[in-house]
Amino acid sequence: MKFIDLEAQYRLLEPAIRQRIDAVLAHGKFIMGPEVAELEAILAAQAQARHCITCSSGTDALLMPLMAWNIGPGDAVFVPSFTFFATAEVVALTHATPVFVDCDPVTFNMDPAALKRAIQAVLTSNPTLHPLPRHAHEGRLKPRAVIPVDLFGAAADYNAILPLAHKHGLLVLEDAAQAFGGSYHGKPVCGLGCDVAATSFFPAKPLGCYGDGGAVFTDDDDLAEKLRSVRVHGKGDDKYENVRIGLNARMDTLQAAIMLPKALALPAEIEARQRIAARYAQGLEAPSGVTAPKVAANVLSAWAQYTLRFDDNARRDAVAAHLKEAGVPTAIYYPRPLHTQAAFRKLGYQAADLPVTVDLCQRVLSLPFHPYLEAQDQDRICGLIAQALG
Ligand SMILES: *Cc1c(COP(=O)(O)O)cnc(C)c1O
Repeated sequence: MKFIDLEAQYRLLEPAIRQRIDAVLAHGKFIMGPEVAELEAILAAQAQARHCITCSSGTDALLMPLMAWNIGPGDAVFVPSFTFFATAEVVALTHATPVFVDCDPVTFNMDPAALKRAIQAVLTSNPTLHPLPRHAHEGRLKPRAVIPVDLFGAAADYNAILPLAHKHGLLVLEDAAQAFGGSYHGKPVCGLGCDVAATSFFPAKPLGCYGDGGAVFTDDDDLAEKLRSVRVHGKGDDKYENVRIGLNARMDTLQAAIMLPKALALPAEIEARQRIAARYAQGLEAPSGVTAPKVAANVLSAWAQYTLRFDDNARRDAVAAHLKEAGVPTAIYYPRPLHTQAAFRKLGYQAADLPVTVDLCQRVLSLPFHPYLEAQDQDRICGLIAQALG
């Protein structure tokens, strides 16, 4: 059994994918070929966003808006600690300061009440309101942006986060790396009214390519132009005019070509993911000591991960070991909070600063999940979990 079975999808889409690859090999426009614009139009329509700017990875998709906004030294950017490293890494790359915010124990997403306290703490340089990075209360940080993450595929609480951000003049960058294809109150992820949204097409994401890729979405014409400039060495009107420092962050034409059939298959796959999540939830009702993931009302998750919460660390580890013995792969997303990572040691955080995140890292376990998972495999997994807990 595979944790994420990419071959199952390939078996269905192989003829279309091969045809698209062959077309690129024939026309030879490997950089910014016509498939890139074709894909951007499809993705923009799916996200109901004015602009889609594809790029080289989800990490670059997060970095590009920060660069376009000139975020840098002295700026505070609020990020969750319970997420993939890249969410906070891009902040550090711009020499701005990540301010870590705790998450909700049920949805796993950024807790808006904690965000509110963190903003006040930065504004008043008062770490008793909310833990702040070391030196922040001396150096006086300027709150500039917030990066909510749609963790495991479910949109963050934007109805609470957006008004808070607007009140304080914060830019909002949605990290939808795990959530493309999902929706929030009927609106597609990446089209939720944030200033900008970023997603990843790393192969294992709900919509993936066969390498690295990503995309940025915005309704703002001016920002879209800046993002297109940042994507190609800060280009101006022509290739040899450079108006800002940028990146080489284009998506390969071949990756765009591969993604075209995959993007068209996405809506049906998102539906399959709902069915598979529902079957897991049903199978996990009986055993005690484990809680199936709960998605907030009006959120349709893209189910990048199906993440269980156990009552304690011992139960989590016992179930993981039992599944492993039976040949069922599992993964821990995430084993370590970002605020305790060695790379962020200079920020001076203590583990206890964000207790919900620290606790979840001890108790979560993600199960095999992909749109082609067989019901009998799911039932077997649920049986093994009940056995390990019983
Ligand atoms: C995968 C991921 C990224 C980074 O995407 P890459 O394409 O791997 O660079 C960023 N944020 C989150 C939450 C992710 O899951």
